[in-house]
Amino acid sequence: EMKLAGRGGWRRYTAAMSERAATLRNIEGALRDALAHETLALHYQPMVDAHSGRIVGAEALLRWQVNGHDVFVPDQFIPVAEDSGLIAELGEWVLHQACMQSRQWRQHRHPIPISVNVSPLQFRHERFQPQLESLLDSYGIGSGELELELTERTMMAGGDATTRLLQRIRQRGVRLSLDDFGTGYCSLSYLKHFPVDALKIDRSFVHDVIADPDTAAITRAIIAMARSLGKTVIAEGVETAAQADFLREAGCTLLQGFHYGAPMPAAELDRWLAATAA
Ligand code: C2E
Ligand code: MG
Ligand code: MG
Ligand code: MG
Repeated sequence: EMKLAGRGGWRRYTAAMSERAATLRNIEGALRDALAHETLALHYQPMVDAHSGRIVGAEALLRWQVNGHDVFVPDQFIPVAEDSGLIAELGEWVLHQACMQSRQWRQHRHPIPISVNVSPLQFRHERFQPQLESLLDSYGIGSGELELELTERTMMAGGDATTRLLQRIRQRGVRLSLDDFGTGYCSLSYLKHFPVDALKIDRSFVHDVIADPDTAAITRAIIAMARSLGKTVIAEGVETAAQADFLREAGCTLLQGFHYGAPMPAAELDRWLAATAA
């Protein structure tokens, strides 16, 4: 970009940059406002057992909506929150909401483990661990009731300190899963160093698993390897019965995707849980 020829090119470049900066500032300002005025909510997407089809967990996904319409989607506003540092506050809000929901589902007598996405910056923040532990205590979150979804990027950064923190969190009964597996730069050999309970196969693999034999072979290998390391394997982005059949036969433990249910407000999943419990 810096090689743009002549003054006109440079002007175009700086104009584009300041426009981008202005857009980011606008989103950031609106996001602070949303955090203060509760136009943010968590939706929950069911995770089902590949064999029984029963709901065995739910992933919390952040929504920023007004009148049921997305203002921005997470792939737009999470990066802004990360760049501006707002992610620490936003992430704490998400964890808090998820812990409240967990307690509510327990009180409604259909407890269900909740998975929460955690950003690298949020995870590295010095307040993260004490906040997490105080939420676990306040809401009486038991072993296996909360799972954190982290990416390879998070786990690779920070070296031994990160590994110790991951171990400590796990000792508190919080499960850890490696999200978007296969999209990062993580070599398979790293897996034996990461103290994770589960691998989530990225939906880009699931998407191509029927049409592309190479993707099918890689996906089978990932599942076999994860299982032989004693890890749970979750496939995300399952949209068709054919994909579900393939993944089940390959030994995938849990399935998640539009084929089973889109992310939905807590009350909707609540009705679903009540219906299947009856
Ligand atoms: P992710 O954690 O990998 O979440 C899965 C994404 O796939 C979600 O997008 C979900 O709505 C979508 N999805 C689920 N099933 C299907 C399917 O069958 N087909 C397709 N095409 N998509 C499906 P969403 O909610 O837009 O979130 C995008 C990303 O934003 C998430 O990816 C996660 O990295 C991030 N994110 C969302 N909520 C939070 C949050 O509370 N905190 C943080 N730090 N990140 C979040
Ligand atoms: Mg996730
Ligand atoms: Mg994912
Ligand atoms: Mg993703």
